[in-house]
Amino acid sequence: MANVCQSCLDDPWLKRVVRDHASGSDCAFCGAIGPEIAAPIEVVVGCIKTCMAGSFQEAAGIPIEGSVTRWYPGTTWSTDELLWDLLGLDIRDRPKLFSALVNGLGSERRWSTADPAVMPEHERLRVSLARFCWRINHEARFFLLSDQRERAALEELGRRCVAFGLIRVLGRCETDSRTLPN
Ligand SMILES: [Zn+2]
Repeated sequence: MANVCQSCLDDPWLKRVVRDHASGSDCAFCGAIGPEIAAPIEVVVGCIKTCMAGSFQEAAGIPIEGSVTRWYPGTTWSTDELLWDLLGLDIRDRPKLFSALVNGLGSERRWSTADPAVMPEHERLRVSLARFCWRINHEARFFLLSDQRERAALEELGRRCVAFGLIRVLGRCETDSRTLPN
């Protein structure tokens, strides 16, 4: 069973996992030696699985008749992509450790969001914005606020813009507004 030490992991949460389970005296990835400095890689893999539960899960592929491969509806990712791109575990300079984590999770597995049948919120917002832009440009340029649902949508958009800090007052505008005639 290979052990990994804190120094081999950048993520503060994974470092803590290693610290809490440090029963080994050697790191198989950097060669460090010392009393109780490293935890079994399986423990780290288990904690990663627990942490991503609810966000990602193993994709349920559909068998293709006469083929050993499966068909995966929706977007799926390999274990490499899951760790690297989606969970942000950027340890490209430690290929041996990365490979051990990939193997621990299952190098042949594919992953999807926890509920692939539901469109993620960012995708829903993107589609809604595209529809909204089309309506303003081509259908209701001067009458948008007369529709109660669209008024509510605009108010929600405004609330999110404020919440995300996307609105700021420009000094030039303040100056201009003071110089406007009453
Ligand atoms: Zn190490």
